[in-house]
Amino acid sequence: MTNAAVIVAAGRGARAGGSVPKQYRLLAGTPVLLRTIRAFADHPAIGPVVVVVNRADDDLFEREIAPALGTRPVRRVHGGAERAQSVRAGLRALAGDDIGVVLIHDAARPLVSAALISRVVERAGTSGAAAPALLVTDTLWRADDGLIGAGVDRTGLWRAQTPQGFDFKTILAAHEVATGGETDDVEVARAAGLTVALVAGATENIKITVPEDFLRAERMLGQTMDIRTGNGFDVHAFEAGSHVTLCGIDIPHERGLRGHSDADVALHAVTDAIYGALGAGDIGVWFPPADPRWKGAASDVFLRHAVGLATKRGFAISNADCTLVCEAPRIGPHAADMRRNLARIMDVDETRLSVKATTSERLGFTGRGEGIAAMATATLLKT
Ligand code: MG
Repeated sequence: MTNAAVIVAAGRGARAGGSVPKQYRLLAGTPVLLRTIRAFADHPAIGPVVVVVNRADDDLFEREIAPALGTRPVRRVHGGAERAQSVRAGLRALAGDDIGVVLIHDAARPLVSAALISRVVERAGTSGAAAPALLVTDTLWRADDGLIGAGVDRTGLWRAQTPQGFDFKTILAAHEVATGGETDDVEVARAAGLTVALVAGATENIKITVPEDFLRAERMLGQTMDIRTGNGFDVHAFEAGSHVTLCGIDIPHERGLRGHSDADVALHAVTDAIYGALGAGDIGVWFPPADPRWKGAASDVFLRHAVGLATKRGFAISNADCTLVCEAPRIGPHAADMRRNLARIMDVDETRLSVKATTSERLGFTGRGEGIAAMATATLLKT
């Protein structure tokens, strides 16, 4: 016997605005629905997850959600016009499994925590049914035509949340005989004579309803997200030579760059940006210029080390941007190759990287053609 989750994602979410249904919109870079599915599919107490989608959203699901699910045991079924029909479809998809507790959750609550899921699973396991709620703390008014009327006694009033958890067979049977007028699954359960235990909800478990809720949810995520930014700057002077090496690409030029290694000023700047984001010093600390091992070294060694260090410390490279400053050689024709090679060295998707160049309008040492400067920014995300 295992526990399961049914995620109801068939609604159109018109109040949240946007051209795609809100559950497919990005929340801090990840679709709302994907966040919600992961919360359940990655929870140790939950086995199969059924996602109930609108038939019209099949393409969206295939494109935005399915590729990121990997081997998670997620099944997709189609919902009906009413929420209750969708829940019933989701429950029926589990009828052949040996399910203990099933959690029913709104896709629009992507910030549901593992702790809340645990609370509901445990309580539903012992009581047969449990749902989270928050005590109403604000004063409540009745209002009409913009005028405040009598206050409402808030004693004993709670704000309902999901996931709501039930003994699977009991809630499936209750849904099969439900009349359809119920607003949520607790009401379906109570109509069938079940008692439902109340467990503590979570303030961050908001339901994304209106456009402002996206900003609110992103702020909440920001508080728990560890984002680091670092910058790097490097300069190498020209000397006699036939080419310069930038982002590991050899570019023919009437001069070369002077340096202990291959003098790849671009890779050095990107490498230092990553070390900077990690608060881990710079290239010189990890690869002392006095060390003969690095004489003439290809600089991808340094960059691979910085990326490896980030990985070891639990960070993924979210993006990096490098700007070269020189009058010559012309970078533009090589920028795409450089970016591709940077992606290969860093094992990061090309779309997260940028290589661009500018002149300094013939001013300063770069303007006089004495060398090349590079600056870079890297953003790292705790995974
Ligand atoms: Mg350097």
